[in-house]
Amino acid sequence: MRIVLVGPPGAGKGTQAAFLAKNLSIPHISTGDLFRANISQNTELGQRAKAFMDAGDLVPDEITIGMAKDRMEQPDAVNGFLLDGFPRNVSQAEALDEMLQTAGMKLDAVLDLEVEEDEVVKRIAGRRICRNDSAHVFHVVYAAPKAAGVCDTCGGELYQRDDDSEATVRNRLEVYHTQTEPIIDYYKAQGLLVTIPALGEVADVTQRAMDALKK
Ligand code: AMP
Repeated sequence: MRIVLVGPPGAGKGTQAAFLAKNLSIPHISTGDLFRANISQNTELGQRAKAFMDAGDLVPDEITIGMAKDRMEQPDAVNGFLLDGFPRNVSQAEALDEMLQTAGMKLDAVLDLEVEEDEVVKRIAGRRICRNDSAHVFHVVYAAPKAAGVCDTCGGELYQRDDDSEATVRNRLEVYHTQTEPIIDYYKAQGLLVTIPALGEVADVTQRAMDALKK
């Protein structure tokens, strides 16, 4: 299966993507994680992406599309993948379509995780992520780790993403509305869009998404 996950920052894309990818035995491809890995390894790509990320802006397409394409062409992705955070604007969606068409493939579904804006801001402000695995996500109030700053799952150090500050979150939401939301209509027109209410328990949201995919 080839699936795209969309939704505002804080909708739980990373968390859901990790569970869904595991259930479906396909790789979870997160462009945000790829950028963060490049930044921590101080690669040239990471250096080019960092200022855009810190400001909460999109990294330019000429950097992003090539990086996403390289990852999708890895051997583990031949039978499918779950894209988390890509595409994030219409030109990326068009580039993805073109790439898949050339390879004789197509998307199976686009899952849109729907959450209210107030909820998103609350979720992001308290979000803490494990340095070992970005799918290990906690929240200082809603999902507090047993010991402050320590991942319950693997003992890794929990940290707050640089771009999870309130000012940057506001810009990320603005960027989401103006640049990313148009892809929802783009995929609706292709008959691929499935809207998933993303409130409630993590496992319930995963189940809703799995049920939608079975249909
Ligand atoms: P995420 O982890 O998906 O929230 O992404 C974190 C940041 O990485 C975003 O705010 C952007 O700056 C950058 N980023 C991730 N994916 C993309 C993309 N498809 N296009 C442009 N920038 C991206």
